[in-house]
Amino acid sequence: MQAFEYASPTRKEQVATLLGEHGAILAGGTDLLALMKDDVVTPRRLVNIKQIETLRGTSYQPGNGLRIGALTTIADLVEDANVRQNYPVLAEAANEAASPQIRNLATIGGNMCQRPRCWYFRNGLGLMPVTADGKSMVLEGDNRYSAILGNTGPAYFVSPSTIAPVLIAYGAKIRLYSPSAPGSGVRELPLENFFVIPKSQKDSEHDLRPGELVIELVVPPPSQNVKIGTYEVRQRAAFDWPLAQATAVLEMDGNTVKSARIVLGHVAPIPWLDIGGAQEIIGKSITPETAMASANASVALARPLSHNKYKITLTKVAVKRALLKAAVHNSGGAA
Ligand SMILES: Cc1cc2nc3c(=O)[nH]c(=O)nc-3n(C[C@H](O)[C@H](O)[C@H](O)COP(=O)(O)OP(=O)(O)OC[C@H]3O[C@@H](n4cnc5c(N)ncnc54)[C@H](O)[C@@H]3O)c2cc1C
Repeated sequence: MQAFEYASPTRKEQVATLLGEHGAILAGGTDLLALMKDDVVTPRRLVNIKQIETLRGTSYQPGNGLRIGALTTIADLVEDANVRQNYPVLAEAANEAASPQIRNLATIGGNMCQRPRCWYFRNGLGLMPVTADGKSMVLEGDNRYSAILGNTGPAYFVSPSTIAPVLIAYGAKIRLYSPSAPGSGVRELPLENFFVIPKSQKDSEHDLRPGELVIELVVPPPSQNVKIGTYEVRQRAAFDWPLAQATAVLEMDGNTVKSARIVLGHVAPIPWLDIGGAQEIIGKSITPETAMASANASVALARPLSHNKYKITLTKVAVKRALLKAAVHNSGGAA
């Protein structure tokens, strides 16, 4: 690992200056330190944000919803009584992520900002690796875990967080802070807009401006007539990332779906808003047949690469099972 300076501010206002041009934010360190040990990233200074108390903790108000401070660990989310009661599918997804040891350290801010698991990237070849003659190494090489949607290029990695798709399905917003931003310095955006498909090596996969840090996530209050389900297809029941994931939030009118939001994970360089699958289920009750039709619509625009056609089948399984789980699973009600 390359030598680096270390700073540990106690106020968020200090972070941007300490980061300078070549610093990196350190939260739980479960992703960043591994990348540094492999020389994939080489920040000159680490800015440890764990002493900034205002970034800690969650709060819940029935009228306003849930606020999750950026330093909240995944384990805290799993154990949080308000999350378990009002956002049970968020608690379920958090409980599925990584291992108990990692969940104890990993923060929700770091989870949103974690870097892709793409093995070309993790071997120091960048997010869009190319051969000496300019061809995509991913298209030419082993792309079994790569994207099947949003992959018109040149990015083919998949977005790694299993918690972001669930938060997006719940309609979460992300709040970012930088002292140079106008007004209070806080920028708020729908969480789905925080994830971007990079178009060149110098682009990031996050809409995070220089000096900015994630301060919190805000999730709207749950509604009584909403049903929600999530399903992950994993290679093994161990600490690993899923191969495909779907979360469905369905606003119901009796037994009929009035509106739907389906978000897919691990199939695209961003958490993927599944417009086709959602439209297909609207106006219908949820049965194995309508769920299957929705699953088929979810992958209608998929473009498999040479080694990942199997992910189309797995994505359909994830969508169908998320919908069928939603049918029997209430979102929890405002407490
Ligand atoms: C074996 C293993 C299995 C895993 N399985 C899963 C899984 O199933 N699902 C899943 O979602 N994740 C999984 N993970 C990833 C894990 O959840 C992330 O490593 C973790 O959430 C990152 O959080 P952290 O606090 O440790 O971040 P760090 O490692 O400290 O930081 C990660 C990145 O985020 C940036 N960052 C951190 N906090 C902020 C902030 N507040 N503002 C701006 N930038 C910030 C850092 O600069 C760095 O670039 C797994 C990890 C491992 C090692």
